[in-house]
Amino acid sequence: MELDVSALRQASGAKEDFYVQGELPQRVMDPEEGSLQGPVELSGTVANVGHILVVKGNVEATVEFICSRCLRPFARHLRLPYEEEFCHISQLHNVPPEAREGVHDFAGETVALDETIAETIILSLPMRALCREDCRGICPKCGQDLNEGSCDCRPDDVDPRLAVLSKFMGPGQKNPGREKR
Ligand SMILES: [Zn+2]
Ligand SMILES: [Zn+2]
Repeated sequence: MELDVSALRQASGAKEDFYVQGELPQRVMDPEEGSLQGPVELSGTVANVGHILVVKGNVEATVEFICSRCLRPFARHLRLPYEEEFCHISQLHNVPPEAREGVHDFAGETVALDETIAETIILSLPMRALCREDCRGICPKCGQDLNEGSCDCRPDDVDPRLAVLSKFMGPGQKNPGREKR
């Protein structure tokens, strides 16, 4: 995705609205983190603030995730704030070194956006995707999707290590509670 800045580049103080849309190479994302579905959009404004072009707007993309609990795929539409600064390579000498941090340089009449858009999306991805906050996951024993209904596995026979422990807890140690008379 590229932004044509041929006119704006010459007009200090000017500002334009823009909209770009396109495909990002799928390899920008780790397939385990998510995969892009369809085109990615960026819309907003680009301002010439004297040698530096400030591109500000929102990235919109649909990403398919695999739920880390129930392993089902689910898609989510992302709308992410985007703000980046670009400086034409011929103007870099006008930008003091202390102001160059985070400024991307470009040559020619267009600004390439793919890399910064991909970064914006990747930084927003969750460490563990969940199809919904209260996803119940799958039963570790029989694999039943617990969102669709419970299985017949009893909670007290899940882990043999816990079963060993329960041998030491005889019925006499259970608190019978106070009975009403
Ligand atoms: Zn889930
Ligand atoms: Zn089960």
